[in-house]
Amino acid sequence: MAHWNEGLSARNFAELAATRGGPVQRPFLACDDGRSFTFADFWALAGRLAFALKAAGARPGDRIAVQVEKSPEAIALFWACTRGGFVFLPLNTAYTAAEVSYFVEDAEPAVLVVAPQRADALAALAARQKAALLTLDDVGGGTLVTGATGLIEDHPSAWDDLAAILYTSGTTGRSKGAMLSHGNLASNALALVEAWAFTEKDVLIHALPVYHTHGLFVATNTLLLSGGRMLFRRKFDGDDVMRLMPQATSLMGVPTFYTRLLQHPGLTREAVQHMRLFISGSAPLLAETHKEFSARTGHAILERYGMTETSMNTSNPYKGDRRAGTVGMPLPHIAVRVADPQTHTPLSAETDGMIEVKGPNVFKGYWRNPQKTAEDFTRDGWFITGDMGRISADGYVTISGRAKDLVITGGFNVYPKEIELVIDAMPGVVELAVFGVPHPDFGEAVTAAVVANPGAALDEAAMIAALRKDLAAFKCPKRILVLDELPRNAMGKVQKAVLRDKWKGLFG
Ligand code: AMP
Repeated sequence: MAHWNEGLSARNFAELAATRGGPVQRPFLACDDGRSFTFADFWALAGRLAFALKAAGARPGDRIAVQVEKSPEAIALFWACTRGGFVFLPLNTAYTAAEVSYFVEDAEPAVLVVAPQRADALAALAARQKAALLTLDDVGGGTLVTGATGLIEDHPSAWDDLAAILYTSGTTGRSKGAMLSHGNLASNALALVEAWAFTEKDVLIHALPVYHTHGLFVATNTLLLSGGRMLFRRKFDGDDVMRLMPQATSLMGVPTFYTRLLQHPGLTREAVQHMRLFISGSAPLLAETHKEFSARTGHAILERYGMTETSMNTSNPYKGDRRAGTVGMPLPHIAVRVADPQTHTPLSAETDGMIEVKGPNVFKGYWRNPQKTAEDFTRDGWFITGDMGRISADGYVTISGRAKDLVITGGFNVYPKEIELVIDAMPGVVELAVFGVPHPDFGEAVTAAVVANPGAALDEAAMIAALRKDLAAFKCPKRILVLDELPRNAMGKVQKAVLRDKWKGLFG
């Protein structure tokens, strides 16, 4: 196989982006605040922001921590970092000042860029860490922008140099900083342009947050390198997305975008006539949602699979069978295997095991955590994703759950996904999660949290009795908790760690 960057003359991701879209006077981004940017405007904005960062004291290799609302400047800041040789470190806007302290103390950024309303709360932290504190609001104002009065000369970073540190979302433990190089991000963006056939004719509805790999890299970099443009929305709104579809060609979303669109009476074949592609990822898309969407619109949602540490790994085909409930096949230049979780010996098709990945997309390790980095790679260099799954004889990957979600009850291993599929099929259940909590006899007890359909009444004892018919006794939940809602993070992932913690005393 040819090397991923064969034939590229660019030295780093900024140069690659400049040769694709950089200086041209074609539209790139139209924001819902009324502002629009051509590629040239956007590139110049990134250059000015790089100037402001340098003026605040940043030097090549320094981290720039950013906790701001979504705006064109928020993504231009990433490009400012690649141009200046700085390392971009985006932080979820939901993090509290105490949580931000952990990241800032861990990453030691030279500059902290925050929303103006947060500046007071973070001033002491910035001073303690000797980081310059700048502000940026969601309509292009703040001290970062007022300081952006000049341009810098681009830093000659190499493919292997760090471009970003993204802290993992930490649904199973403390967040770790995944170090991503220029080459990691560029190779993935090129793979996605190719796999999803993006061109300069594309118009993407961008309604994802931009502190996470999905909205920040997958959506933006793919459009930037293909020369397409974006209808940039600061938040997802079903009516708004429906209104934009006649001018757009594509949507990238998390599964909740699609369940929300399905609740919209305007979602019909006619309404999506102009669209060529709907993509979903970041959390599992229920096969049911896939089928319902296809029946309503005639479009098979294209599901793909990735993670902070690797960007995207697999995708259902652009041309070919998009199989509901699967995440498709490895992207160009990326190898995916399923291996025995203990020995890392590859397993045969259709056998469940640990999903492992190798390729130019795989990160350089966890920031200042060589021990965790070593634990997460096999001796022959495969990244151990922590996701369990299998590969069909014809190459489609199916994810069966997170290894860390595994429940060990009375010495038996239970994969929550298996139980979740059975409960999901029960009448009256809207959503659910299965997890383990400590149990005096069994070590852990399989436990379910369910949310009922409006108007449906769920009876715990009757549900457990019904499950007994389909599942081995050790797999049956010992308790089913009926809740109003499940705890989810901003990307729509159910936070099982929160459930495990909240109900840890359930069995005394
Ligand atoms: P994050 O690092 O926050 O992007 O989370 C990555 C994790 O999200 C992966 O390791 C998977 O467990 C999960 N994930 C991402 N995409 C999918 C998908 N299409 N189906 C199921 N799980 C997914």
